[in-house]
Amino acid sequence: MIDRFFRWFLWLLMEAFIASLWLACISTAAAAENSRAGRHEWAQVATIDAPLAILTHYLDRSAFNGVMRANGFRAPYRETQGFAVLRRITSNGVVRYQCDVYLAPEADSRVLEHELRHCDGWDHQ
Ligand SMILES: [Zn+2]
Repeated sequence: MIDRFFRWFLWLLMEAFIASLWLACISTAAAAENSRAGRHEWAQVATIDAPLAILTHYLDRSAFNGVMRANGFRAPYRETQGFAVLRRITSNGVVRYQCDVYLAPEADSRVLEHELRHCDGWDHQ
Protein backbone atom coordinates (compact mmCIF):
# COMPACT_ATOMS: atom_id res chain seq x y z
CA MET A 1 0.00 0.00 0.00
CA ILE A 2 1.32 3.36 -0.92
CA ASP A 3 0.62 5.71 1.95
CA ARG A 4 2.87 8.47 0.80
CA PHE A 5 4.14 9.27 -2.57
CA PHE A 6 5.17 12.16 -4.61
CA ARG A 7 5.85 12.38 -8.22
CA TRP A 8 7.94 14.41 -10.46
CA PHE A 9 6.58 14.43 -13.91
CA LEU A 10 9.74 14.95 -15.75
CA TRP A 11 10.05 15.28 -19.38
CA LEU A 12 11.96 16.89 -22.09
CA LEU A 13 10.94 18.11 -25.46
CA MET A 14 13.42 15.85 -27.18
CA GLU A 15 12.98 17.56 -30.48
CA ALA A 16 14.99 20.51 -29.19
CA PHE A 17 17.44 18.18 -27.46
CA ILE A 18 18.10 16.08 -30.54
CA ALA A 19 18.26 19.17 -32.71
CA SER A 20 20.90 20.73 -30.48
CA LEU A 21 22.95 17.52 -30.50
CA TRP A 22 22.85 17.28 -34.26
CA LEU A 23 23.72 20.90 -34.68
CA ALA A 24 26.55 20.52 -32.19
CA CYS A 25 27.81 17.56 -34.21
CA ILE A 26 28.19 19.77 -37.25
CA SER A 27 30.06 22.32 -35.13
CA THR A 28 27.41 24.96 -35.03
CA ALA A 29 28.60 27.13 -32.19
CA ALA A 30 25.23 28.78 -31.73
CA ALA A 31 23.50 25.46 -31.19
CA ALA A 32 26.07 24.41 -28.60
CA GLU A 33 25.57 27.70 -26.79
CA ASN A 34 21.81 27.22 -26.78
CA SER A 35 22.29 23.79 -25.27
CA ARG A 36 24.44 25.10 -22.45
CA ALA A 37 22.20 28.07 -21.74
CA GLY A 38 18.89 26.32 -22.13
CA ARG A 39 16.95 23.61 -20.41
CA HIS A 40 19.84 21.23 -20.05
CA GLU A 41 21.21 22.71 -16.88
CA TRP A 42 20.69 20.16 -14.14
CA ALA A 43 20.03 20.52 -10.43
CA GLN A 44 19.67 17.76 -7.87
CA VAL A 45 16.17 18.11 -6.42
CA ALA A 46 15.93 14.85 -4.49
CA THR A 47 18.32 12.55 -2.69
CA ILE A 48 17.67 8.87 -3.23
CA ASP A 49 18.30 7.62 0.29
CA ALA A 50 16.65 4.20 0.07
CA PRO A 51 16.61 1.29 -2.39
CA LEU A 52 15.62 2.34 -5.90
CA ALA A 53 13.93 0.14 -8.47
CA ILE A 54 14.02 1.32 -12.07
CA LEU A 55 11.43 -0.01 -14.48
CA THR A 56 11.92 0.77 -18.14
CA HIS A 57 8.90 0.67 -20.42
CA TYR A 58 9.44 0.64 -24.17
CA LEU A 59 6.09 1.49 -25.68
CA ASP A 60 4.67 1.98 -29.12
CA ARG A 61 3.73 5.54 -29.92
CA SER A 62 0.05 5.07 -29.18
CA ALA A 63 0.67 3.53 -25.75
CA PHE A 64 3.37 6.10 -24.98
CA ASN A 65 0.98 8.95 -25.72
CA GLY A 66 -1.68 7.28 -23.59
CA VAL A 67 0.66 7.01 -20.60
CA MET A 68 1.64 10.63 -21.02
CA ARG A 69 -2.02 11.62 -20.98
CA ALA A 70 -2.65 9.43 -17.92
CA ASN A 71 0.18 11.24 -16.13
CA GLY A 72 -1.27 14.64 -16.84
CA PHE A 73 0.80 15.70 -19.82
CA ARG A 74 -0.92 17.67 -22.49
CA ALA A 75 -0.60 17.33 -26.21
CA PRO A 76 1.35 17.58 -28.40
CA TYR A 77 3.36 14.50 -27.55
CA ARG A 78 5.00 14.00 -30.89
CA GLU A 79 8.27 15.66 -29.93
CA THR A 80 8.61 13.79 -26.66
CA GLN A 81 10.61 10.56 -26.70
CA GLY A 82 10.82 9.82 -23.01
CA PHE A 83 9.86 10.78 -19.50
CA ALA A 84 10.33 9.45 -16.00
CA VAL A 85 8.11 9.22 -12.95
CA LEU A 86 9.95 8.94 -9.63
CA ARG A 87 7.99 7.83 -6.59
CA ARG A 88 8.96 7.58 -2.94
CA ILE A 89 6.96 4.75 -1.42
CA THR A 90 6.56 3.91 2.25
CA SER A 91 5.13 0.51 3.06
CA ASN A 92 5.00 -0.83 6.62
CA GLY A 93 7.52 1.81 7.62
CA VAL A 94 10.00 0.79 4.94
CA VAL A 95 10.96 3.43 2.41
CA ARG A 96 11.83 2.63 -1.17
CA TYR A 97 11.89 4.46 -4.45
CA GLN A 98 10.50 3.42 -7.79
CA CYS A 99 11.28 5.15 -11.03
CA ASP A 100 9.31 4.32 -14.15
CA VAL A 101 11.00 5.34 -17.38
CA TYR A 102 8.77 5.48 -20.44
CA LEU A 103 10.38 5.47 -23.87
CA ALA A 104 8.86 6.02 -27.29
CA PRO A 105 9.97 3.79 -30.19
CA GLU A 106 12.39 6.36 -31.58
CA ALA A 107 14.15 6.93 -28.25
CA ASP A 108 17.83 6.06 -28.34
CA SER A 109 20.40 5.48 -25.62
CA ARG A 110 20.82 9.21 -25.05
CA VAL A 111 17.15 9.49 -24.12
CA LEU A 112 17.45 6.55 -21.74
CA GLU A 113 20.54 8.07 -20.15
CA HIS A 114 18.74 11.38 -19.79
CA GLU A 115 15.73 9.82 -18.08
CA LEU A 116 17.90 7.73 -15.77
CA ARG A 117 19.40 10.95 -14.49
CA HIS A 118 15.89 12.01 -13.47
CA CYS A 119 15.60 8.70 -11.63
CA ASP A 120 18.67 9.71 -9.66
CA GLY A 121 16.89 12.83 -8.39
CA TRP A 122 18.03 15.39 -10.94
CA ASP A 123 15.81 17.85 -12.76
CA HIS A 124 16.13 20.75 -15.15
CA GLN A 125 16.76 24.14 -13.63
ZN1 LIG B 1 14.63 15.76 -18.65
